[in-house]
Amino acid sequence: MARPVIVWFRNDLRLDDNPAVVAVARSGAPLVALYALDDDSPGPWRMGAASRWWLHHSLTALGADLARLGVPLTLRRGRAEFVLEGLIEETGAAGVYWNRLYEPWAMRRDSEIKANLRARGLTVESDNGALLFEPSRLRNGQGNAFKVFSPFWRACLATGGPAAPLPAPKAMTAAPAPGGDALADWRLLPTKPDWAQGLRESWRPGEADARRRLVEFAATRVGAYKVARDFPAGEGVSRLSPHLHFGEVSPRRVWAEVMAAAGEAGLPYLRELGWREFCHHLLVANPDMPERALDKRFGAFPWRDDPAALAAWQRGQTGYPLVDAAMREVWRTGYMHNRARMVAASFLVKHLLLPWQVGERWFWDTLVDADLANNSGGWQWVAGCGADAAPYFRVFNPVLQGEKFDPEGDYVRRNVPELAKLEARWIHRPWEAPADVLRRAGVRLGETYPGPIVDHARARARALAAFEEMRAAPPP
Ligand code: FAD
Repeated sequence: MARPVIVWFRNDLRLDDNPAVVAVARSGAPLVALYALDDDSPGPWRMGAASRWWLHHSLTALGADLARLGVPLTLRRGRAEFVLEGLIEETGAAGVYWNRLYEPWAMRRDSEIKANLRARGLTVESDNGALLFEPSRLRNGQGNAFKVFSPFWRACLATGGPAAPLPAPKAMTAAPAPGGDALADWRLLPTKPDWAQGLRESWRPGEADARRRLVEFAATRVGAYKVARDFPAGEGVSRLSPHLHFGEVSPRRVWAEVMAAAGEAGLPYLRELGWREFCHHLLVANPDMPERALDKRFGAFPWRDDPAALAAWQRGQTGYPLVDAAMREVWRTGYMHNRARMVAASFLVKHLLLPWQVGERWFWDTLVDADLANNSGGWQWVAGCGADAAPYFRVFNPVLQGEKFDPEGDYVRRNVPELAKLEARWIHRPWEAPADVLRRAGVRLGETYPGPIVDHARARARALAAFEEMRAAPPP
């Protein structure tokens, strides 16, 4: 029998359009399918709690899909290089195939592993299964990484579009099964307390549901996306982000499905996938992006330290209904609508003057789609310190944002039940509502729902003063 090849699964938990799996299938070599839970290599960016919940279910789904091809999924825990060493020795594998990750810690680790294994005569193949375009190949006119989205996206489109997705193999040869861990022993799911009820109600991780969501969105909703995407109460967005992060669906498959269903009308949606590409491009070019502002002047920004304000934000108790709805949505479901992310993040950074890294951390732990590139890119964009970012002096007004994008207050009602009976006219500014309106709605400000923890106009003035203080500081 030919020597087996290991496919090392990471954030590519699918069989469709999986270059590593297809390469082994084409070679005819027996397959050893591995997932290694490596909590050491990421350092501070070890997977957060909501992501671990997702991972458990996604691995269950992948295991079942592989089992249908007669291939067991081997689970091992530990530093990836040691796990691979052990498995190569046990199985006599001739090579290891994987799809690339773009987190700086993973790029460092994987290139070391590749060099070591190749030096020992093993075949190591890595391919791009996570992005439409290889981020380090895209360069501006001066040969540098892009700093502005529009020319970046034009350069992406000028390549003629992404490659066509590869269909899942219909058959694979399995190598004799090596032993592995039981998934339950990894304790990825919460137990006491079990906070995952809302996640279970909102999501079904795995390739099948990712595909179902994509097909449904492309067939019925992608044409309306451009307008509908900004309204958090509706069904305007695809909610594919956790599926994309864990690689249960490939962006090439998304591109192909959207183009086939909607043609040009799908371009506003594909442009958002372009932001995902841009964030990864920025992260590859700036490996310290998760920790440090791309705009180095922000090193001198006078951030505050205010644990009480931070706790109010985290718990959705700021007194600004749209911000609180956003923060409770993520706590309950592991997801937050993009408009709500922008408003809630802006509130932390500008109204409360708390460092964007603190919010980034909270999102890292609570989002099921927590993604190092998109999360740090999103926070830097909102904070005004990133590439092609919203200017710092643009301070979102959470009341006006609510009235514009949640005009009936349905998003607030769903996530902040104590305001559910308040008339739409007052739902984004309950502190201005007449006493009898509040009474009829059962709202007692300061008791059933907090008053605003900061005054918008004063907070805005304070944020702009802080920005001026930073600008007056000597250059870094
Ligand atoms: P859709 O609107 O349906 O978009 C389709 C896909 O395009 C998304 O699934 C996502 O992969 C990509 N996308 C859309 N908008 C963006 C964007 N602004 N930046 C990068 N990619 C985008 N996205 C994450 O995937 N993980 C994160 O950890 C994350 N953190 C964020 C933090 C902040 C402060 C902000 C402002 C944004 C963040 N985003 C993050 C981007 C965006 O909010 C989500 O991708 C989006 O809300 C996911 O919902 P969806 O799949 O329905 O998006």
